[in-house]
Amino acid sequence: LSHSNLNPNRTSPLSLARAFSSATDPIRATLFPGDGIGPEIAESVKQVFRAAEVPIEWEEHYVGDQIDPRTQSFLTWESLESVRRNGVGLKGPMATPIGKGHRSLNLTLRKELNLYANVRPCYSLPGYKTRYDNVNLITIRENTEGEYSGLEHQVVRGVVESLKIITRQASLRVAEYAFHYAKTHGRERVSAIHKANIMQKTDGLFLKCCREVAEKYPEITYEEVVIDNCCMMLVKNPALFDVLVMPNLYGDIISDLCAGLVGGLGLTPSCNIGEGGIALAEAVHGSAPDIAGKNLANPTALLLSAVSMLHHLNLHDKADRIQDAILKTIAEGNHRTADLGGSSTTTDFTKAICDHL
Ligand code: NAD
Repeated sequence: LSHSNLNPNRTSPLSLARAFSSATDPIRATLFPGDGIGPEIAESVKQVFRAAEVPIEWEEHYVGDQIDPRTQSFLTWESLESVRRNGVGLKGPMATPIGKGHRSLNLTLRKELNLYANVRPCYSLPGYKTRYDNVNLITIRENTEGEYSGLEHQVVRGVVESLKIITRQASLRVAEYAFHYAKTHGRERVSAIHKANIMQKTDGLFLKCCREVAEKYPEITYEEVVIDNCCMMLVKNPALFDVLVMPNLYGDIISDLCAGLVGGLGLTPSCNIGEGGIALAEAVHGSAPDIAGKNLANPTALLLSAVSMLHHLNLHDKADRIQDAILKTIAEGNHRTADLGGSSTTTDFTKAICDHL
């Protein structure tokens, strides 16, 4: 099990700059606690960071209750500026109304900050039994376009249209990220996931870009897998895959499938990578309104996302120490949250992690 899975970018300009700054300077990072279970699991991260003496000073930002005219969104201009200035941040889940209302704040953040790749590691946790014990996958999701372009309208009454946008620029950028990630993380294979047999123009262009990039990386095995077949293969034998790269919607769906292979959404982290080295880490899961405010949420996914943020800042020792404490706590089995079959509250589980540091 490679800890470096959680390290989205070991050689970012930001981490190099950090390496030359004073070791005693606190590092400023943006924190969006988010909605639903977000504030509870963000509190858990803050507690574990304090216990591990991580030199981070959080700049906390909440989603506004009215539209900020400068961003045309509920996200405040100050919060976006904070991420741009700090270059790193951690984001709790943000709820989106279904079928009506304001545009997803997650989409707005990705667009505004040009967070073009979403890296979602998923691996079997030692000591926590699921059907497989050998899952070790990285899903890399194109994060700015595809079906998530937000271009939807009614053509005539009873007929609506959503536009799926695929561009050469965004496809090359995410493919390049995926191959570079594979090369720098000791991975051997990149699978491009698609439905180009039906979406010939859009997924066809995505594949063409992946092939172009693959030629620059002869040491990495490249393959193309149709998404429906990919789902079947993942459920039957996840060890067939290594790094998977795909357009936006497919990445959203496949990464939840992968989470299900290792124990669920409470466990899977992610990191959004933007141009210029910005890293905004977040859990794969949403705001879990069914358990919000009940002290039941599993903070592991957000904690492991925070670990990836620490790697991005070159704080590898702190990152590894926190990850070890999380994995030990889960492996021992005395303190597990309800989603993992235990009866610990979020606060009990957090305390157990702090005790393992
Ligand atoms: P969800 O991920 O919030 O919840 C799905 C299921 O997983 C629920 O049963 C929930 O209780 C459980 N779950 C999720 N995280 C958990 C955790 N940490 N510990 C224990 N159980 C956990 O998905 P949903 O219900 O489809 O979405 C709820 C809201 O979240 C929606 O408004 C959606 O738009 C939003 N959402 C936001 C993000 C994001 O901010 N990146 C991602 C996905 C969904």
